[in-house]
Formats: sequence, structure tokens, C-alpha cells
Amino acid sequence: MTTTTEFKAWRVQEQDGDYVGSEQGLSTADLPENEVLIKVSHSSLNYKDALSASGNKGVTRNFPHTPGIDAAGEVVESSTGEPAVGSSVLVTGYDLGMNTAGGFGEYIRVPAAWCVTMPEGWDGRTAMIYGTAGLTAGLCVQKLLTMGARPDQGKVAVSGASGAVGSVAVELLAKLGFDVVAISGKKDHADGLKALGASEVVGRDALAAEKKPMLKPTYANAVDTVGGQPLAELLKQIQPGGSVSCCGLVAGPQLETTVLPFIIRGVNLLGVDSVEIPLTEKAAVWKKFAGEWACPKAEATARDIGRGQLDGALKAFLKGESSGKIVLDHSL
Ligand code: NDP
Repeated sequence: MTTTTEFKAWRVQEQDGDYVGSEQGLSTADLPENEVLIKVSHSSLNYKDALSASGNKGVTRNFPHTPGIDAAGEVVESSTGEPAVGSSVLVTGYDLGMNTAGGFGEYIRVPAAWCVTMPEGWDGRTAMIYGTAGLTAGLCVQKLLTMGARPDQGKVAVSGASGAVGSVAVELLAKLGFDVVAISGKKDHADGLKALGASEVVGRDALAAEKKPMLKPTYANAVDTVGGQPLAELLKQIQPGGSVSCCGLVAGPQLETTVLPFIIRGVNLLGVDSVEIPLTEKAAVWKKFAGEWACPKAEATARDIGRGQLDGALKAFLKGESSGKIVLDHSL
């Protein structure tokens, strides 16, 4: 028999054309019809959550809404039997937190096909330190490796390096033996980025707009988390045959480039989506992060916040001031 449980959620509603988030009391009867009810212990903060919370209709059409594109917790009801009641799961992407109530609530109800069994040795907090951002960093690195990227080819650049995706990408690439150049707009994060494994930290002006159609081939490969003009400049600086994994748009969704990096140097621009890919692909990357791809430094520097601190933390994302991984702990 289905029981109804009262719970707390951080909900965003429209007020006189503005979007305001606050803690509200809800019931599991308010959640959408779906196969699996999960008691969420932790969620993770992402740029997309900040867009949803600011009323971006490209992310969330209808308000009031509970953001949170990531969630980890325990299955309390399962109409399909798999995942089983009592098991620990994590959910990232698909429609969670976009138009389906997300992990900023203490309960979510989602399709069974969205649930990944918690990797062995992990708890909800560890999973959410990585979250969608970590998964995306892993997918970016995996695409470079699939294209044949090797440490002996030369430096690999990571843009938006102090961000949630960038910081995991820096640590993972360094761990795999790459010589990582972190590109960051935050001067005061240089030591932190070196501690994650970057051999060099350069300012965002390394990707400032240049009139020249091609530049010195400085990097063998790159992970770009910012898009826009900086990505266009990065493409001009990639060595022949190199690749750039592209996942983000904090510097803008437009990409104004010539075809020259592609046809003169054979550069590969690799698109990365962590949201709609098959669950098996997500599970394979999670398994790696729980094993040989573990990023203990990113884990150690993650910050935990409660629902009461969500507002400020999400606004920092929109201003480009966020750094590292932030975990929402529903028990705080
Ligand atoms: P964060 O806000 O944590 O990090 C982004 C970083 O980019 C900032 O910390 C800053 O780093 C840099 N930055 C911010 N604004 C600008 C700007 N105007 N110009 C240049 N650099 C800027 O975001 P995430 O790491 O969580 O996400 C990064 C991007 O990846 C976002 O666009 C997000 O939507 C996208 N994403 C895509 C996914 C996918 O599946 N494709 C999944 C997850 C995220 P610094 O100060 O070090 O330069």
C-alpha cells in the first residue's frame, strides 16, 4: 500500500516576474507518478540548477518547481521491484530537476530506468561530490582517450578549471599522467588548481579574442567547459590531430569559428552530453570514479551545505564565482 509522507523541499516560485526560492513543506502525494520513490540524502549543485532556480524557461517550463538535477538516496517504494526497496541509488540527468521535481527535495519519484545502483564502497555524499559535473568531466576525459589522447603528445588544457566540471577534469587528467594547464579567471585559485595536479595555471586572457584565424599550437588536447568565444580561441591553439571535448556554455552558447582548425590541423571537436546518454554509459563512468579514476583531492575539498544556503550558492554560479564541488546534505 502506498503511504503518504510529509517532507521539506527547496522550491522556486514566480513572484511578480522574479523567481524566489524557499523551503516549503510538501507531501509525497505532490510528486509525479513514477515507479521509484527515493528518500534523498544528498544532492549536488550544478550550473543548470542555478539556471532553473533563476526561472530559465529553457531548463524549467513551469513553476513552482523543485530544482536539483542530481540525487542520491534510498529506495523506499518500487513498483518494478528493481531497484529494490532499501537499495542505495543515484540519479543524474534525464528530466530530474528540470521539469520533474528534483534533488533539492527530501523525496523524488522517478522512472526505474533513471536509477544507477550505488557503486560499491560509495555513500550518497561521495556520489554527490562527483554528481553530474564529475560524470561530465569523466565523459570529457573518456572522449579524449577514445580519440587517442596520450600524455606524451603534450599539454592538455582545461578551461573553467576552478568550476565543478573543470576541477574534476584537472585532477583526473593529472592522475592519468597528463601535463595539465588549468585556464582560470580566479587568480586566488592557482594554488588550489596546482594542488589538484595542474602543472601550470594561466588566466582567462590566454583565450581572449584574437583576430588571427590560427594561433601557436600550444595544447595537444583540451577539455572546454565554457563554450563561446574562449572555445573558438582554444580551437586555434590545438596541435595537429588534437581533440577538444566541449560540454559547457557559461561563456555563451554561440561558437564563431572558421573551419581552419579542422581542415588545416585536423582538430576534433567532441560534443559531450551527460544527461540523455544510456544509463549503462553513466554506470560505467561511475564505476571508474569509484575505482581507478577516484579523485580524492576533489572529494576532500567538497563543501557541504544545507537547504538554507542554496540561494547564495546558486547565485554564485550565475556570477561565475562558484568553485569546486558543493554538496547539498538534507540532514543539515
Ligand atoms: P561552474 O559554474 O562550477 O564552473 C564554470 C567555470 O567557468 C567557473 O568556475 C569559471 O571558472 C568559468 N567561467 C564562468 N563564467 C565564465 C565566463 N563568462 N567566461 C569564461 N569562463 C567562465 O559550472 P560547472 O563546472 O558545473 O559547469 C560548466 C559548464 O558545463 C556549464 O555550462 C554547465 O551547464 C555545463 N555542463 C554540461 C553538461 C553536459 O552534459 N554537457 C553537464 C554538466 C555541466 P574559472 O574562474 O576557473 O575560469
